[in-house]
Amino acid sequence: MRSTVLTRWLRQGLKFGICPLCRASHKLDREYVWYFVDQWSMKDTVVDEVAAARGFCAEHAEQIRRVEVDSLGSTIGIGNLYLATLERLSEDLDRLENDAELQQARCPACVYRDEGVANNARYLLDELASETGFREQLESSVGLCVPHFQLGWRSTTDPSARELLLAVERTALSKLIAELVEHLRKQRAEFADERPGEEARSWQRAIWLTTGWPPPRTPASVPEDDDPYGAMADSLAAAVQRVSSEQRPQ
Ligand SMILES: [Zn+2]
Ligand SMILES: [Zn+2]
Repeated sequence: MRSTVLTRWLRQGLKFGICPLCRASHKLDREYVWYFVDQWSMKDTVVDEVAAARGFCAEHAEQIRRVEVDSLGSTIGIGNLYLATLERLSEDLDRLENDAELQQARCPACVYRDEGVANNARYLLDELASETGFREQLESSVGLCVPHFQLGWRSTTDPSARELLLAVERTALSKLIAELVEHLRKQRAEFADERPGEEARSWQRAIWLTTGWPPPRTPASVPEDDDPYGAMADSLAAAVQRVSSEQRPQ
């Protein structure tokens, strides 16, 4: 059995109704972004890593900007970081030979996240094999998104671990397919007076199952509340309500 500290993000994912590895991924991003703004941006070694990557990737640059500029109201840290990045770029361009390529390291926040998610995929497989009740929870959940199912699959070559992973994913997938079929049935004119239920959001969950779940909107500098994905669900519910009332016969 794994320590509950190690598996807490996976359990939060199940609780919030999203892919458990997406939850781990969101938490790792929040962790990196917050530590970066709070401490790491002052360390030359970390600034060097960002400069070697030619800055953060677009996704992580935006997360850092939201915390530093929108939330903390400062541009000094970002200004200094990108000055160092541009100066390094300028030096490297000065030295770039005509037949060589400009070197570029991976975004350090992506590296941090990928390593953390890979660890969590192993915890998930261990938990699935050893922890009573975890399999049932995962089976009755929304399942893993496709990118994280792939990651889990590639994290092991053990046939029984793969078998378990496949079984829970297939169960979760069949449930979602049934909900989507039910949603489409209710869209037909002859059933238009039936009230939409949970299946009304199945098309959105189908998108998220294939792409991964989007992170909560709160920036990393703002502590999460008890329901960090609630606003997303509420706006979705409102959109569903709007669409279904617009489609209702007059
Ligand atoms: Zn995922
Ligand atoms: Zn990145």
